[in-house]
Amino acid sequence: MMSKAIPSAEDLARLDREDPLNWTRDEFEIPTIKACGGEGDGDAIYFCGNSLGLLSRRARQHVLEELDVWSTSTVTGHFKHPHGRPWKHVDAPLTPHLAKIVGAKEEEVAHSSTLTSNIHNLFTSFYRPTEKRWKIVIEKGSFPSDWYAIHSHPQLHDKILSPEQIKEAVIGLEPREGEETLRTEDILKVLDDNKDTIAIVWLPLVQYYTGQLFDVAAIAPKVHEIGALIGLDMAHGIGNVETKLNEWEVDFAVWCTYKYLNAGPAAIGGYYIRAGLDDGGRRLAGWWGNDAATRFQMSPDFQPTPGAKGYQHSCTPVLSSIPLLATLELIDKVGFSNMVAKGRRLTGTLVTLLETSPYYIDTSDPKADQSKVGFKILTPPAPYRGTQLSIAITPEGHGTMPRVFSRMIQRGLVGDERQPSVIRLSPVVLYNRFEEIGRAVKIIEQALKEEEEWQKTNGGEVDLKGHDLISKE
Ligand SMILES: *Cc1c(COP(=O)(O)O)cnc(C)c1O
Repeated sequence: MMSKAIPSAEDLARLDREDPLNWTRDEFEIPTIKACGGEGDGDAIYFCGNSLGLLSRRARQHVLEELDVWSTSTVTGHFKHPHGRPWKHVDAPLTPHLAKIVGAKEEEVAHSSTLTSNIHNLFTSFYRPTEKRWKIVIEKGSFPSDWYAIHSHPQLHDKILSPEQIKEAVIGLEPREGEETLRTEDILKVLDDNKDTIAIVWLPLVQYYTGQLFDVAAIAPKVHEIGALIGLDMAHGIGNVETKLNEWEVDFAVWCTYKYLNAGPAAIGGYYIRAGLDDGGRRLAGWWGNDAATRFQMSPDFQPTPGAKGYQHSCTPVLSSIPLLATLELIDKVGFSNMVAKGRRLTGTLVTLLETSPYYIDTSDPKADQSKVGFKILTPPAPYRGTQLSIAITPEGHGTMPRVFSRMIQRGLVGDERQPSVIRLSPVVLYNRFEEIGRAVKIIEQALKEEEEWQKTNGGEVDLKGHDLISKE
């Protein structure tokens, strides 16, 4: 636990000086306040790596190298590459690093396509409903793409499932009344209550909205006990929290690489399939899933690569894969467990400063006034979080959060907003500093102070009628 002593600006500067990982920030291109839409000189405080990680100098270098190879070697770049990364095997150097950070064997991970398409790919193979066992468990508050994707699968089995079954196929997990995050015990109860009908449990490793880290080690054994499979969406987990897919006995998982892995907008996605997991002969095939040894024989017989790579479809997109290598090389140098340790301290410091702010609303206090201008913390305490912290700005609605958020941007603090009231802040280990956390909290307090003043002059009817920027739909 962090001590509750409030760190001063000098304390934070000292933490940065003594931080053995303090050199990695210089590997990245830090955006300016102006470039992020604010006013003033200097670098922005970029706490938005949960959404899009920053460009590293090495990623820029790798991409420029690939453009040069394309220009000079042209088609032979697939086989002969001046930097030793022939495009034909461009994912090969990624695999060992990735297997390590997700806690899996190399043959269990692959890079291909993008996250949502990988959900569809894996659900095609591993969602094999029967009349008795056909339900999919997912959180009601899941990322919309997951929610849409999962809902589309039962309909593909309309020869086996009745229209009623298709309608009832998805079980949506919800937090208890008045709570923001799911309790493990409640998830286990849903599994017990539906133990004969659940086919797949689909959960995030880290929840995108609340920042909650799910206790997969506690949930997976129960999923298997009832005879179902557990799949994970690791979009907000990979590169952020310690992950042990093998040890937790996760059956399959997907991730994107543009968040904590800094691979660039819409970069290549990845997935994991537990060794030996049976696909029942259902696989969407493509030439890139064919064994590399015989792929170029152009044979009409599909001979899948053993393991996860046998589920790839197309040749690997080079320009959206190569920036990933830069981050993975850096993580390898730094040591992922050191990153996780620093991440806990960064976010722990943010929590300490926020909880001692006059604007903090402690929701464990039933008498807490949630109608005043301030913020609540939605993210659970350590260890049930990664680096992301989600705060809800109060009072909810009336355009309060967007106004506070735009004042933050104006002063150079970049988080992101999720309506109706949440601001997500993620201090990222590889490029954020302790000193920035101190300044970020001051910016938030200033933005809230101005909101108090704003509400004093624009309050009452005018506020509710004229300035409600948020649609509640
Ligand atoms: C970021 C994110 C996605 C994005 O999906 P794409 O297919 O890469 O566009 C999906 N699900 C979750 C949970 C995410 O956090």
